[in-house]
Amino acid sequence: MQIVVLPGDGIGPEITTATSGVLRAASERFQLDLRLEEHAVGHASLKQFGTTVRPELLDIVRAADGLILGPTATFDFKDEAHGEINPSRHFRKSLDLYANVRPARTYAGRPGRLGEFDLVVVRENTEGFYADRNMEQGNGEILVTPDVVISLRRITRLCCERIAHAACRLAMKRRKHLTIVHKANVLKLGDGMFLDICRAAAKGYPGLEVDDILVDAMMAHVVRNPDRFDVIVATNMFGDILSDLTAELSGSLGLGGSLNVGDRYAMAQAAHGSAPDIAGQDVANPISLILSTALLLAWHGEKSGAVRYEEAARAIEAAVAKALREGRATRDVGGKLGTIAAGAAIAEVLQAE
Ligand code: NAD
Repeated sequence: MQIVVLPGDGIGPEITTATSGVLRAASERFQLDLRLEEHAVGHASLKQFGTTVRPELLDIVRAADGLILGPTATFDFKDEAHGEINPSRHFRKSLDLYANVRPARTYAGRPGRLGEFDLVVVRENTEGFYADRNMEQGNGEILVTPDVVISLRRITRLCCERIAHAACRLAMKRRKHLTIVHKANVLKLGDGMFLDICRAAAKGYPGLEVDDILVDAMMAHVVRNPDRFDVIVATNMFGDILSDLTAELSGSLGLGGSLNVGDRYAMAQAAHGSAPDIAGQDVANPISLILSTALLLAWHGEKSGAVRYEEAARAIEAAVAKALREGRATRDVGGKLGTIAAGAAIAEVLQAE
């Protein structure tokens, strides 16, 4: 399996180094023949090539079997005309990665804030309330007068259908329970369509239990009783906010894996940003990116029919759980290790099993 690795900015290089070590250990144990091919994006690329993403990178990624994108300093990249492209947006859009899959679970010995749970938020990733996602040209926010802004939210039948089916398929492989999160009482047309389509899609999956909850009430439900949820499907912004909450409830935002998936391509990405405040200090938690790459391996295994990739993904998740249980982790999750040592501890557990 050929994987393109783009380390990114801030803590990106440190956590991708730690992640690559875990992948090499998994490759050895499960004979995955992983080939990691590293290229610059973000500030490193801007400095070297005058753009945060070289145009040829897209073909390189398309020719590979998967992409790992480290966090990038997206807030710094404002002027596309001067090469300041948001790398995450570029690949998400160019590769049509319409589903953002974000698991959140607690770990033995490191309980979350609210007892044990294991859920996944499946978030629509290509439209919704995001100014950069809805327009072929221009931006989804309009300054009508200096004091009036209109922000557009696009919802389409196609995007609702494909995210609904992605969530249903995932729920069928888990505990067969789907929760649709929406605000159809107010956004009657957009969320009304999303809700109707999700309900209709779910009917095609025998045994799938479905419920739906208004997004505001959902915040109370998920804090009160997160273990009642299995797979949660939501439009883009609701899913974005909800998945940060569920990751944090699991113990830390740094424990949340994230995979951006389309019909042909997938991109593993940490749930957090480039954390410039701790960059270069060897203190960042690499687990989010490590778990994201486990999701990438599982996706590849399912797509190619090669079971050993899914086994490797499960083994990485188990190794993360064991390292956390033993306290061999970074300080944000109660450990004392640095970024590289925390990655090495997970690789070691993986090799020793
Ligand atoms: P952030 O997620 O980078 O950091 C928020 C807080 O969490 C900081 O205190 C940071 O130190 C901490 N943190 C983040 N990741 C951590 C880790 N792995 N281990 C330990 N602590 C961690 O959010 P921010 O500071 O708002 O954004 C910084 C930059 O990242 C901005 O340019 C933003 O646009 C960008 N960003 C990029 C992505 C992405 O590439 N996917 C996502 C979010 C933000």
